[in-house]
Amino acid sequence: MRILIVGQGLAGTVLSWALLQRGAEVWVAEGDLAHPASTAAAGLINPVTGKLYVKTWQYDDFFPIAKRFYAEMEAALRICVWSDVRVLRLLDTPKSVNDWEARQSDPAYAGLLSTVVHAGSWQPYLHHPGPWGETRGAARVDLPLLLSAFRAYLLEKGLFLSEKISPEEITKLAQEYEVVIFCEGWRGALNPFFPNLPWRLTVGEALLVRLLHPNAASLCDVVKKNLLLIPLGDAYVWAGATYRHWFPSMPIPEPRPEALEKEVRQLLRVPFEVVRVISGIRPTVRDRRPLIGESSLQPNFFLFNGLGTKGALLAPYWAEHFASHLLEGVPLSPIVHIHRS
Ligand SMILES: Cc1cc2nc3c(=O)[nH]c(=O)nc-3n(C[C@H](O)[C@H](O)[C@H](O)COP(=O)(O)OP(=O)(O)OC[C@H]3O[C@@H](n4cnc5c(N)ncnc54)[C@H](O)[C@@H]3O)c2cc1C
Repeated sequence: MRILIVGQGLAGTVLSWALLQRGAEVWVAEGDLAHPASTAAAGLINPVTGKLYVKTWQYDDFFPIAKRFYAEMEAALRICVWSDVRVLRLLDTPKSVNDWEARQSDPAYAGLLSTVVHAGSWQPYLHHPGPWGETRGAARVDLPLLLSAFRAYLLEKGLFLSEKISPEEITKLAQEYEVVIFCEGWRGALNPFFPNLPWRLTVGEALLVRLLHPNAASLCDVVKKNLLLIPLGDAYVWAGATYRHWFPSMPIPEPRPEALEKEVRQLLRVPFEVVRVISGIRPTVRDRRPLIGESSLQPNFFLFNGLGTKGALLAPYWAEHFASHLLEGVPLSPIVHIHRS
């Protein structure tokens, strides 16, 4: 089957790989358009999130698939993008300690959570003494590296089209391909072939900071208070992120780094410099489930989108599911179907 994928963010990358592994002929078009999510993302997979410390949707099913999927890409592309990490979450009130310990004793969370008094190598850098809720079973995927290595692979094979595909062009181009799959991130909300979907886009901002301390290069745990501090190596830390709802009819919001910087200062007792302000628009959906399916206006045009705030975990499972649907006729799950009720 000859397939054109429009967009090479995380969704387009992982889906293309899943299709190529199943023997499809895939070409990928990417226009390097503004405000992508994947290159802004920290790529964290966190099994337990939110104020109520709830397990991430389908974590037990999705995590082993994600680990195996990225390992296969790592081996083929000769890169290393996956790191197992520990997340340390500040428990700064008696209620947060109680709630965390209640979760810890829940058998569904066995092996994932514990409470520690010390933030390990991070402790000298932080204002807060703890205690800390420790989460195991977390990982970080280096999405910018994954995307650039996959682009190099596509370029080498002559499968990469460096262009923005407009709705006018696509109807012409579609004659050359049996199937077109749109993986356009937040721009999916503007796609005329998929109107009236329950988008609820969010702008996310983060800071890339560098800790000015001689031992900071060795940090590896992730620390969370209101925001996440994620070490990237060489004393660089990704600090974020914000969540601002945004509608495509509004102007793209200007980044507001000051509030983030203030929050970083409240956490860190060592000096740091802000290297870069990071921002992207997440393809978030009202019910927080991906959006997958065929256009009701144009046969053989499909959408693979809506990875929301947890793309690193969700993408491999749903890419393999969608690839089996397209190539082997496996029914598409109604949970992610674009026309779900
Ligand atoms: C600040 C921030 C932090 C985040 N942190 C995490 C995290 O820690 N863990 C996690 O799992 N997720 C995180 N996310 C969410 C994650 O980034 C998304 O789930 C995921 O990256 C979405 O990927 P995508 O491919 O759908 O979209 P995008 O990455 O936006 O990719 C879409 C691509 O399509 C291209 N494109 C669009 N239209 C066209 C066209 N017509 N023609 C050609 N090209 C086109 C664009 O140029 C773009 O490259 C974060 C997001 C943000 C913004």
